[in-house]
Amino acid sequence: MNCIFCKIAAGTTPTDFLAYDDNVFVIHDVNPQAPVHLLVIPFQHIQSMDEVAPHDAELLGRMALLAKSAATAAGIGDQGYRLVINCGEDGGQTVGHLHMHVLGGRQLLGLG
Ligand code: AMP
Ligand code: ZN
Repeated sequence: MNCIFCKIAAGTTPTDFLAYDDNVFVIHDVNPQAPVHLLVIPFQHIQSMDEVAPHDAELLGRMALLAKSAATAAGIGDQGYRLVINCGEDGGQTVGHLHMHVLGGRQLLGLG
């Protein structure tokens, strides 16, 4: 298993889970791009958004809901935040395991 997020999911690379449910967990990004930078990650290995299938619709919904509650728990629910899923090379994806970024705690500008 060569996937860092699968290793974190399996507990072989110990990392604090800020929240989790049966399908999805939340961790701090190791290289934060904002005062709050969380990652919402499915336990199941899915390479990217491009690999998502119709039967993953509920999983994506759970990711969005856990992102929302993690943002609220981090204290940025009211001031706002950004949810991002990078996909593939042009999308800037660097870890090949589906994940959603939760970014906030400062004014975020363009999508650059
Ligand atoms: P992306 O560029 O959308 O694929 O995002 C991958 C993110 O994972 C980057 O923001 C990295 O900083 C983050 N990252 C990589 N390895 C780890 C790790 N071991 N723990 C937490 N975050 C990580
Ligand atoms: Zn994986």
